[in-house]
Amino acid sequence: MPVSEFGLIKQFFTRPAQNRCTRLSVGDDCALLSVPEGYELAITTDTMVENVHFFPDVNPEQLAYKLLAVNLSDLASMGAEPIAVTLALTLPRVDDAWLLAFSKGLFALAGQYGVDLVGGDTTLGSLTLSIQAMGLVKKGKALKRSGAKAGDLICVTGSLGDAALGLKIKQGYNSDYASDALHRFNMPSPKVEQGLLLQGVANACIDISDGLAADLGHILESSQLGALLNYSDLPLSKGVKDYIKKQDEPFFPLSAGEDYQLCFTISPEKMMRLSMEYTCIGVIEQQQGLRLKHQSGEILDFKTQGYDHFKKEASK
Ligand code: ADP
Ligand code: MG
Repeated sequence: MPVSEFGLIKQFFTRPAQNRCTRLSVGDDCALLSVPEGYELAITTDTMVENVHFFPDVNPEQLAYKLLAVNLSDLASMGAEPIAVTLALTLPRVDDAWLLAFSKGLFALAGQYGVDLVGGDTTLGSLTLSIQAMGLVKKGKALKRSGAKAGDLICVTGSLGDAALGLKIKQGYNSDYASDALHRFNMPSPKVEQGLLLQGVANACIDISDGLAADLGHILESSQLGALLNYSDLPLSKGVKDYIKKQDEPFFPLSAGEDYQLCFTISPEKMMRLSMEYTCIGVIEQQQGLRLKHQSGEILDFKTQGYDHFKKEASK
């Protein structure tokens, strides 16, 4: 990195450490983190590329927020408490106003969870952003995709399809519920607290980034089990219900990506004692595959690869 860019890091990406695990932050060749006795380090990375993951007209403050949110969402889905991140920035040019807004969005969410930005890399090139996030999880208590058990209830936090509706609106769809949906698309909130409550309680968990059918499908594949979902139990906002009705796309909430809600499986006894908001949408079954009980009572059978396949199956 050119020497002149050290100023950039100092100005926009250096803040006093606030997390108990941070031993050494930005400024050396590596950061140093300590992992308390009895904990494991959970690590994840997500990258966002202009024109692939975001529009060129994106608001940099929201972009930074979302980049961090999607990484914290991965930690949440493992039941990990976020502690620190590194940031790899590839920028087409150095634009102070852009960087100021970007760092504002990043530190707004980081501060909310006491997460430190402990290092990174800054280069010139097409706009590409990566965060690596690190979190703590009690040894052996991480929520894996492979832990589901037959008889578990399948639950989700929040509602489904709102972020995908936000994307449709960005692409020109008109909705009376635009502001909520756009907010969910632009600034998803990672379910960190919920992930921590589920640590050691849920049997399996995943965050919904590619759509419920695909992501629950990962749990089913890893756990070698199947599921029956109840369509009428899916938690849907007014905006998504309105979209489904107007567009006649009943399966939209199953394929809708970028919700960053958690989908978890849990024994009925443990669910009774869960002190958070969630909706129970189905049950894990021994028989492999994903089945959907429609409002009509009909049970639709579909593969878990995603929406397109399901659409074909369902319209038969
Ligand atoms: P090196 O040559 O050792 O890779 P760099 O010159 O790339 O070091 O970075 C100098 C310091 O600034 C390092 O501590 C690095 O972690 C940090 N850093 C670089 N870019 C960023 C960034 N975008 N955000 C946070 N820290 C950064
Ligand atoms: Mg470097």
